[in-house]
Amino acid sequence: MSRPCPCQSKKSFDRCCEPFIAGKALPATCEQLMRSRFSAYSLAKVDYLLNTTAKDKRESENRDELLAYCQSVKCVNLKVLKADGGPGDEVGHVHFHASLQVNGKRHLHAEKSTFVREEGRWVYQDGETN
Ligand SMILES: [Zn+2]
Repeated sequence: MSRPCPCQSKKSFDRCCEPFIAGKALPATCEQLMRSRFSAYSLAKVDYLLNTTAKDKRESENRDELLAYCQSVKCVNLKVLKADGGPGDEVGHVHFHASLQVNGKRHLHAEKSTFVREEGRWVYQDGETN
């Protein structure tokens, strides 16, 4: 059974983001983490989103609000424009465009995300949107 990955990579879900979301593997690059978080948003995998948020920000996240957000948004498309941050790095960035549908309205979300390494794995630090 394979379905296309929600991150629009054109790979099947089980060969792309699923192992990360299921906790079977750790993303080696910031782009992999960013893609898996996009997939987690579209599948409302709130615990994965919280677990991959930097510790100092995790406490201010509200699980119910995050879940409500996931359920109100439809992730339509993802385009990664630029990405760095690989196995040897401590900090990385991903510049992407996400096409979302919020309450029935199409919305383009452009963000440059910053990721940092925490306890050996990549986590989301913050993002600049415009
Ligand atoms: Zn994916």
